[in-house]
Amino acid sequence: MENGYVWTVRRRGALLLGTTGAALLCAAALTSQPARAADLSPDQVAGLLASMHPDYTTYIHEIRYGRSRLRPLSIYAGLVRPGGTDPRDADDGPRIGRGVVNDLIVYADTFEPWRTPAWRLLIADHEYFHARHLAKGYDLPLVGFGVASVDTDYLEAIAWQYVTRRAADGVYGTLSRAESAEVLSRYRCYYEDFRRYVFRTQPSAWAHYGRFLPDPGTRITSAGSAPTEEPPPEAAGGTR
Ligand SMILES: [Zn+2]
Repeated sequence: MENGYVWTVRRRGALLLGTTGAALLCAAALTSQPARAADLSPDQVAGLLASMHPDYTTYIHEIRYGRSRLRPLSIYAGLVRPGGTDPRDADDGPRIGRGVVNDLIVYADTFEPWRTPAWRLLIADHEYFHARHLAKGYDLPLVGFGVASVDTDYLEAIAWQYVTRRAADGVYGTLSRAESAEVLSRYRCYYEDFRRYVFRTQPSAWAHYGRFLPDPGTRITSAGSAPTEEPPPEAAGGTR
């Protein structure tokens, strides 16, 4: 599976924009165009981020290529600790906690040439969300569940709802029909996996988490589902 973007969280917290995990099964039918190497520079990604979030350097210290200019087969990009080089390496995993900064590793072929400008903004925004969420920069729970795959499902669900909502608000411009479906599909996959876990272990907890994760079957816009842009002095925190 060469197309599509899936964030996964590896054990010890490495955030990856990669191509592994069950979510790909949900999105496989949506991305049929062939991928070719495009020439994306870290400066271009910085420009995408700065156009939406002038404060992005509060959460992302550096954007650079990893050990190679072209991406490894398994990933497209990923957050790493400052100075880290390989998002696949758990030892390079991003920091988590209030005020942390991380680095973003990208590759020249992170974006397939057929992607719309809106998609590129959306993915950059997705990465911004992860970086800021890990720094407790949102009034949103940052929690660990003791199971790496569940942590992944939660972090990805909340990040994909964010870009789903922003896409519906028109923040990125016009996505292709396939991309719009892909965004919703990715959110739905993580949402459903995480929701299943909650209902299997502690159904009452959904009264809490469901506040942040709107039903993907409904129209998701800022009204009623927006993360707070500025955290209160004691943001709703989690266990890490
Ligand atoms: Zn992600």
